[in-house]
Amino acid sequence: MPSASSSSSSGASSSASKDPYGPYGPFGAAFELKPGTQHYEWGMTREDGALVAKLASASDPKVEKAKEGTKFAELWMGTHPTVPSSIIPPPNSPTPPDGSPIQLSSYLARHPALLGARPRYFKRPAGELPFLFKILSVGKALSIQAHPDKELGKKLHGEKPDSYKDDNHKPEMAIALTDFEGFCGFRPLSEMHKYLDAVPEFAQVVNAPVAFVSELAWASQPSSGTTDEETRSWVRGIFGRLMRAQSTTYKTAVMRLAARYRQALDDGKASELEVEEDVARLVVRLNEQYPADIGVLCTFVLNVVHLSPGQAMFLGANEPHAYLRGEIVECMAASDNVVRAGLTPKERDVETLVEMLTYSTGGAEKQRMSATAYTPAEDSANAEAYASPKEKEDGTPDVPTLLYDPPIEEFSVLRTCLAPGASETQKPLDGPSILLVTQGANAKLIARPRPLPQEQANGSRSRSNSAANGHTLAPDAPREFEVKQPGHTYFVGAGCEVELRNEGDEELVVFRAFVEVPADE
Ligand SMILES: [Zn+2]
Repeated sequence: MPSASSSSSSGASSSASKDPYGPYGPFGAAFELKPGTQHYEWGMTREDGALVAKLASASDPKVEKAKEGTKFAELWMGTHPTVPSSIIPPPNSPTPPDGSPIQLSSYLARHPALLGARPRYFKRPAGELPFLFKILSVGKALSIQAHPDKELGKKLHGEKPDSYKDDNHKPEMAIALTDFEGFCGFRPLSEMHKYLDAVPEFAQVVNAPVAFVSELAWASQPSSGTTDEETRSWVRGIFGRLMRAQSTTYKTAVMRLAARYRQALDDGKASELEVEEDVARLVVRLNEQYPADIGVLCTFVLNVVHLSPGQAMFLGANEPHAYLRGEIVECMAASDNVVRAGLTPKERDVETLVEMLTYSTGGAEKQRMSATAYTPAEDSANAEAYASPKEKEDGTPDVPTLLYDPPIEEFSVLRTCLAPGASETQKPLDGPSILLVTQGANAKLIARPRPLPQEQANGSRSRSNSAANGHTLAPDAPREFEVKQPGHTYFVGAGCEVELRNEGDEELVVFRAFVEVPADE
């Protein structure tokens, strides 16, 4: 019971509309969250400067005491039952007498007004957000993987519930915080042919008949008239052969290849190799991280994407990808469905993987997604900055807040960068959001709820009778938070205007994940 305080919440266990504190409950329309951390082996340590550790320490004093060498891989913000976020109650608000954490999901289930006018969208189970918001500190490559679409998610969960724990799809979006490198999507057919032709160890594992390779040489030329459908079939042929190779074959081939490249790099003879130096370095590095793993050879079939801070990529259903190194903000649909291809000691579900992929191809550039200017509230202090924005070098508008809006309904992300002294007011959103400060100190966040529709506001009248004991603010009162250091994380209920003020002397960077429920839901 989130608001179980002895003196002031006698009615708190009844429905939300009768909550003595009004529709938003005792913590109001916005409150601070304590995110959870995951310590996967591919993470970074505090000694490496892991951002996950730095951000987590804002709400978790234990982080500072972690043993040297402890890996910090992911910071989770949301309601996913594996690592649910809990609420940091505002001062003087009622908390459970036993001190147990108040989970965001159970609070949202009891106070659906925070989710907006269409809380039924947040079904299954009540109070669960459709997205999961994360920070990743990637020290070592993650497994090469793909996520099913909704239909396949349902099928896999039905057939193999132990491996596929839910029936949802899992589109993901990554926004770089530091220079970032990842695999994303298949290389153009011509590049795959180039490597198949030039790298004997790769060709040996793919073990394609001579006729296949010579036909591929022709099919991969732009003038060949190869259709998209035929291209997909070629890519599937190459990838399927690679994935189905016997471990006895690929293990020796991968070790031989990595040793050969290592030697050339050590001898300063990279220019004599049959591949580009960065490709050789990646092969050597991946083999150091996952010796003799089939995923090392995926370097020759997958695009290597580089993102600078602020650049993003969207990973749709059935597209192969892997994060290789760097730190990112990630947002995804709440699901755990992963089909792995390589760079992993875990189960590889090769047949599912080969069957599911779209096999669409394109260069690394194609994998990036662009951001657009996100117009603030009309009376925002910086409104004129949006009137006729200049473009940055990479084509994005030079404005404080950018919108990353992937082609799915579960989430979008805002990134706000404010110079010292600057402020911005963001208009109310028609759904819940989570804000995370990744950089800056001495800032203010003010959340102002806008008036509720009459039927949802009924609870607020009873507040004045039963909760007017000095414990809490009126439900429509603004909530103000002091951001003392990066890592502070906030839940902001639907319908709140948000003002950010940078009162510090360095740039303030805030990411905000949100969902706006489509009107026809
Ligand atoms: Zn993924």
